[in-house]
Amino acid sequence: DRQTYVIANWKMNKTLAETAEFFQEINSSNDVTVVVCPPAQLLYPAHLFIKQSGKPVHLGGQNVHWADKGAYTGETSTAMLKDVGCEYVIIGHSERRQYASEDDSLVNMKVKQSLMAGLTPIICIGETLEQKNSLQTEEVLASQLFGALNKIDSSHFIIAYEPIWAIGTGQSATAELAQQTHAYIRSVLKQMFGEKAESISILYGGSANQSNAAEYSKMPDIEGVLVGGASLKAKSFDGMIKVF
Ligand code: 13P
Repeated sequence: DRQTYVIANWKMNKTLAETAEFFQEINSSNDVTVVVCPPAQLLYPAHLFIKQSGKPVHLGGQNVHWADKGAYTGETSTAMLKDVGCEYVIIGHSERRQYASEDDSLVNMKVKQSLMAGLTPIICIGETLEQKNSLQTEEVLASQLFGALNKIDSSHFIIAYEPIWAIGTGQSATAELAQQTHAYIRSVLKQMFGEKAESISILYGGSANQSNAAEYSKMPDIEGVLVGGASLKAKSFDGMIKVF
């Protein structure tokens, strides 16, 4: 059976004090794997707050470098993420593709490095509004998948479908559209991984919130959500944990 996830991507938000408060307030559930991805400098305190709380919450990075170590100013390695308690890492988020010029081949290098280190990559893909309107969604997603997963045998990763037009806009994809797209993504994964594709979790992201999460949870190919804005408040994040 596929594992389900509710994952928080805090992006560039929260102070140390707000982080402490968040982990005091959130509840967790044994039905779903809860992962929180704070900014890099909050990872270690977050790890300690989680340990203190005794809650089954997992930790993830928002980005990682492809090299083991070395002269890469400002970067974070897979070993560093693991050292501070991370089990997961978001790779290829559309904001990094847009603002940090990440492309599919860089994403591929980061995925390889993460799998080697034993981190579970959360690989983000998604089309722009322009691509959607010109009916290129499937083509774009297939090429992102083939690029990100080039020469990778392991299927120990998570895919996050995050249509760019839905991120931070309040214009979430309907559950029906998301399901249809997830089914397509799974068909591409089947071409690449055969039957192993059946066990890969595909998450939806893009203005997911407490009110629409229940709709996504009913869909056969949506195994959870990757949440930005609605993950910042413990109460609304909890609301999403409850429905999955
Ligand atoms: P929002 O939930 O704020 O739309 O962000 C989605 C996202 O980018 C999660 O990675």
